[in-house]
Amino acid sequence: MTHKPLRLGLTGGIGSGKSTVAGFLADAGAAILDADAVSRSLTQAGGRAIPAVLATFGETLLTPEGALNRDAMRNLVFSNPDSKRQLESIIHPLVSLVLQEQAQMAVQQGKTCLVFDVPLLVEGIERWRPQLDKICVVDCLPETQIQRVMARNQLSRPEIERIMAQQATRQQRLACADLVILNEGIDLAQLQHKVREMWASFGL
Ligand code: ATP
Repeated sequence: MTHKPLRLGLTGGIGSGKSTVAGFLADAGAAILDADAVSRSLTQAGGRAIPAVLATFGETLLTPEGALNRDAMRNLVFSNPDSKRQLESIIHPLVSLVLQEQAQMAVQQGKTCLVFDVPLLVEGIERWRPQLDKICVVDCLPETQIQRVMARNQLSRPEIERIMAQQATRQQRLACADLVILNEGIDLAQLQHKVREMWASFGL
């Protein structure tokens, strides 16, 4: 008799430490299902989203190799909100479908905790909520996000602030959280300790 696995949504703003927490959960035996990686694979040449992108937008949105042309896409969605919605209506259901397939495989392999790593979970909360049992937000001060990303990517402060302005606010994320991991004023070892403390409640 297998238990129903826990479907945990993991999110946080850029630089919050979400990927680091996902890594600690993977060490503990959780399956990590990465929404961004799935989205990228769907839009590579031969990806499952490409036929619908071609049918809807024509070849202008594809590279010569047949992948989604990200520059062309950015220009289009920036100038035309309807196109953004159309593109999302192609990609989002496919991301959910592929994640469900991956989740099923993980359960067959005996995983009891499925971590859905979704950077923009809160931005799509109505779509994600029914697919998850609990939402865990990795949280820190906005200034800490900036410092971490500047150290990691060599991006400038204005570039990071621009990305943060496009994401949900800290308050919006916290309002969606069932669990909060405060990744502030602690080092990586202390973060790992915090995540370990939560393992038992995640069924790991
Ligand atoms: P993104 O959304 O940009 O992928 P993220 O939320 O996944 O970011 P991480 O990549 O996990 O964030 O962390 C950002 C950077 O900050 C990494 O270099 C990570 O090692 C570092 N970091 C995270 N938490 C801590 C911490 N408590 N102490 C020191 N460094 C940390």
